[in-house]
Formats: sequence, C-alpha cells, structure tokens
Amino acid sequence: MAKYQSFIGLEVHIHLLTKTKVFCRCRSAFGDEPNTNVCPVCLGYPGVLPTLNIESMRMGCMVARSLHCTIPERTWFERKQYFYPDMTKNYQISQFASPLGQNGYMELEGRSPSGESRLPKKKVRIKECHLEEDAGKMIHTGTVSLLDYNRAGVSLLEIVTEPDMETGEEAELFIQELRRIVRYLGVCDGNMEEGSLRADANVSINLPGKGLGRKVEIKNLNSSRFVRLGLNYEIRRQGVALDEGKTIVQETRLWNENRDETMPMRQKENAQDYRYFPEPDLPVFCPDEAFRTSVDIALVELPRARMRRLMEEYGLQQEQAELICDEKEGADYFEAAVSAAGADKQELSKKENTEAKHSAALQIANWFLSDIKHILGREGLALKDITSFRLNPRRLAALAVMAGAGRITGKLAKQTMELVIAEDREPEEIVKANNWEQLTDPAQIAETVKAVFAAEEKTVTELRALKAEGDETKEKRRRTLAAYLVGKVIAATGGRADPKIAGQQVDSLL
Ligand SMILES: [Zn+2]
Repeated sequence: MAKYQSFIGLEVHIHLLTKTKVFCRCRSAFGDEPNTNVCPVCLGYPGVLPTLNIESMRMGCMVARSLHCTIPERTWFERKQYFYPDMTKNYQISQFASPLGQNGYMELEGRSPSGESRLPKKKVRIKECHLEEDAGKMIHTGTVSLLDYNRAGVSLLEIVTEPDMETGEEAELFIQELRRIVRYLGVCDGNMEEGSLRADANVSINLPGKGLGRKVEIKNLNSSRFVRLGLNYEIRRQGVALDEGKTIVQETRLWNENRDETMPMRQKENAQDYRYFPEPDLPVFCPDEAFRTSVDIALVELPRARMRRLMEEYGLQQEQAELICDEKEGADYFEAAVSAAGADKQELSKKENTEAKHSAALQIANWFLSDIKHILGREGLALKDITSFRLNPRRLAALAVMAGAGRITGKLAKQTMELVIAEDREPEEIVKANNWEQLTDPAQIAETVKAVFAAEEKTVTELRALKAEGDETKEKRRRTLAAYLVGKVIAATGGRADPKIAGQQVDSLL
C-alpha cells in the first residue's frame, strides 16, 4: 500500500459548438482571422447589454444530464472580477451560487491508458457544471504580446469533479471518457490541441485516514497524457517533500512538457478574491417544461451504455466493444453493417438467428478493428468521413454474408475489400468478375485432386506407403505430405477451393 493517500480533482473546460458566442451574436469559430469575430458586447464596451444564447444553456444542460447532474429550478450568472489583458471587461460572466448542473457522477471504467491492466470500476462525483464565457487569447512573440479577442465570449462549460480520483491514470481515463461523451452529444469537438477541451487538475496527498492534504493546482495540461504525467509527477514530488518533513505550499503550478515536471506559477487566489456578485444585466434563468424537453430529446445513447448493449446484443468482447464505441461514427458504421447483414431468416430458429447475427457481427468487428481501420489510416480518412467511404455498411455486410456462408475465403474477402475501395464497385460484382467464389463442389475438387496426384506422383506414392504401414511414429511426416498436397490443390484452383473439402478429397483418393 502506498504510504500516502492522494486526492485528485479535475476542472475541465469545454468549448460548446454553438454557432454564436454565449452573450452576443458574434460567430464562434476556431482559426478565423484574429479580431474579426468581435462586437461591443464581447469587447466589453460600456453601456452594452449581454443576452443569453439559449443554445449554450441547452448544450450545457445536455452535458449536465449526461453526467447525472440535477438541473436546478433557477440558475443564474455572476461576475467574477479579475484583471487580465485577455478580458477587456475586467470581469468574466460565470456561474457561482447556482450552476446549471449540480451533484452528478461519472462511472470510470476501462483499461489503464498507460498500461495493460484494467482499472477498478469507480464512481467519480461531479460537483457542478457551470456556463461561462471564455477569455481572449494572448500570443507572445519575441518582445511583443498580441491579443486576439475572437475567443472572448465563446461558450465555455466548466465541469468540476470532487477529489475522488487517486492516480494520474484515473484522471486520464476520466478526461477520455468525458471527451467521448461530449463528442457523442455533438456539443464539443474535444480537440485538446486546439484548446476546445482543456483540463486543470488539483491534487493533494496525506497520510491515510487524515483527509485532504494541502491542494496544489496544475495548469497547462493540454493533452490527457500530460494530465496523467503531471499528476503522477506531482504526487511523487509531494511525497518526497512530506518525507523530508517539509510542508506543501498551496499554489498553482505549470506543467512543463519539455522537462516533464511541474513548476511553481503563482500562489492560489481564493474565491473571495474574485468578489463574485450576481450579474445585474442577465435575468435568472428558470428552465420551463419546453426547455427541459428540448434537452431530453437531444440526449443520445452514451458510449458506455452503447458498449454494454453491443456486448449483449452481438456477443462482442468488452475490448472489442470499447474500441468500436470509441467514436460514435465508428459505432454507427459497425451497427449499420451488422443490421444490413443480419435480417432474421424465417427458416431459422430464434437461437440459430442469434448465432448467425453474432457471427456476422464478429466478422464485421474483426474487419473493422483491423483491416478497415488500417485502410482508413492509409487513405488519410477520419472516422467522421466514413459516410463517404466507398466500403459502405451495405457493401461490408454483403462481404460478411458471403464469407459467413463460405462463398469466399477470408483472404479473397480482403482482396475484394481493396477492390471495392479502388474501383467503387459492388462486392458481388467483383467476386463474380474475378471468379473468386469458393469451390465447394466435392466432385469438382476431386477432379483437381486427381490432376495434382498425377503431377506429384512421388509424394503420392510415399504417402500411400505411409498410410498402408500405419506406423504412428511417422504420423508427422504423413501429415506434412498431405498438407503439401492440399496446398497444391488450393493453388491449382487459384485459392478458391474450400480447404476442408480439399483435405477430405485428398484423404479419400489416397
Ligand atoms: Zn460579440
């Protein structure tokens, strides 16, 4: 057991994909020409009035609901006062006393991002989700600092957890799961490099049973990997300091990705330093029945629920289901293909139908997670482009049905896949045109076997002698020779002969 107990909490900021900013009508977009998406409201001119973008509120509530939060009867905004050049108003409109989402949780489950083991299941409590405006961006170049206010006023949702995590691995898993959830909901692109999902972490350690220690906040964690590395570094650093009898300074530290360590940045402000007070220019928001319904109907099946359903419905392994559900587009593609492949057949019993469905699903899952992902990578296609992929779900299903019925071998199925993509044609057509349909007629295969026997007289003679002898010590030699002949038969049919039937025919004609 570790000597110290650690407590990790996260504050994750996500950019909501609203078309316009949260309190004005300016366009909300990443990468536009600097200072083109600005107006008197988001630049904080005197005398202007903010108005709430209801879409921001709706998307925020969708995330809150997906994290099992309660949405209060009344929610409002506060001013958080501080001076910084990226915020010309000198305050940020945020939420403090009544955030839009309260007291939720997320179930953590899955493989440790850094290693082979699965982490134990865990419930992480969500303290709150609150809506606020983002600040502008400062770009430091040489001796000058440039300011771009396009980002000032963009809808930002902050998700705050309780300090329920204990390791960097758990925190990384939390961020990955949250990223999946907001992408499934379509409310955030989850792009950490572009800053549309940003995480700050706080961590304290203490002797077991002594409660929380003194909290250190870590900023500048712009990938989920840095979250893990930064936290694990900080837990070690604090442990060494306590071992040496030092006290931990309550402060904010920056993660330095070049040196793989955290460095002091500033002593932490307290909430009272911000002098929060209710924003006088915005009314209290009371979600009515119509608003709550609009949130409900926008909710989707979330990745973890979908994963469990895929395991149950199609008999997939947990690992497979997790990989398939990693992105919604991938899971949609998989399910569309399985459903195209598996209409219930009247002549089959319920059990047989289930088995057929499971076997088609397994085939499609295997192809999807290996060959198709490989092809997408090679063609430079992202999963979100999969709707324009030539190997569409219907075509993939046709291939799986052919392979499942033994009409085509696995190897030729993959070659067909490549041709579907190269030539944009139907799999059936390709298989017919190339005469790739598997040979299963015993009589036809027997003809080929006879021809092979004639050409391989020496091998056949040796094999017949071995068979007559029946010496068990020579079994291995016998098998090698038989396999050699089967290989010749398959080759002679251009890879089309069913290997099982070819084997039976070689045996029977010996
Ligand atoms: Zn504006």
